[in-house]
Amino acid sequence: MIELQEVYKKYPNGVSAINGIDVRINQGEFVYVVGPSGAGKSTFIKMMYREEVPTSGTITMNGVNLAKLKMRKVPIFRRNLGVVFQDYKLLPTLTVYENIAFALEVIEAQPKFIKKRVMEVLDLVNLKHKARMLPTELSGGEQQRVSIARSIVNSPKVVIADEPTGNLDPDTSWEIMKIFEEINNRGTTVVMATHNKEIVNTIQHRVIAIEGGKIVRDEQKGEYGYEN
Ligand code: ADP
Repeated sequence: MIELQEVYKKYPNGVSAINGIDVRINQGEFVYVVGPSGAGKSTFIKMMYREEVPTSGTITMNGVNLAKLKMRKVPIFRRNLGVVFQDYKLLPTLTVYENIAFALEVIEAQPKFIKKRVMEVLDLVNLKHKARMLPTELSGGEQQRVSIARSIVNSPKVVIADEPTGNLDPDTSWEIMKIFEEINNRGTTVVMATHNKEIVNTIQHRVIAIEGGKIVRDEQKGEYGYEN
C-alpha cells in the first residue's frame, strides 16, 4: 500500500534529512512516527504527500511512484489522500461547510452529493451545528475537527497527519484521537507524526521511531520511548 525503498533526502542546503529508509505500511494500519526534534519526521511525512521529493529511492502509494510523479499529476494524486496539519490550514474566508465542500467542488461532484457528504463528515466530527461559522469563530479543537472532516471528505484510503494535536490541550487531543480511531476503524490507513507520549502509550499502535533520518525502531503496539 505504502512502500518506501532505499529513500534518501538531501535538502538543497546540503542537510541529509533522510538517510536510507525502507518500510512498508499496509492498508488499514495505524502508524505513529516518533523521534526527537530534527530527526526527519516531517521530511518523511512530507514525502508521503508529495510536498517533498526524495533525492533517491522510491515511494509507492496506491501503486503510484511519488518520486517520479509529474508536477501536473500531483493534484490528482492528492485527491486520494487526506492530510491534516498541526495548524489546521483552513481557508479563513470560507465557512466550515465551504472549507469541506471545496475539496468536492474541485472534482466537480454533483451538488446534491456534496451537500450529503459534507453533512456526513461534519456529523462524524460532531460539528453539524457549526457548519455556517467561520474558522475564526471556532476553538482550536473544533478547527482541527473541521480539518479532519475535510481530509476524509473524498473517502481517501490514507490519511497523513503531522502533529495534529501539537497545538491542543490534553482533553482536546484525546477527542481528536477518538476521531482518528474512528476513521481507522472504518478501514482508512493513518500515518501520524506525533510528540504526544501519553497518547502513543495509551492508544497503542505500530510505532516507527526515526533518528538521524533512519528508522531505529519499528514495533507493533509500541511505546513512545522518549522523555518528550
Ligand atoms: P523533525 O520533523 O523530526 O523535527 P525535519 O524533517 O523537520 O525533522 O528535519 C530534519 C532535518 O532536515 C533537520 O536537520 C532540519 O533542519 C532539516 N530540514 C528540514 N526541512 C528543511 C528544508 N526545507 N531545507 C533544509 N533543511 C531542512
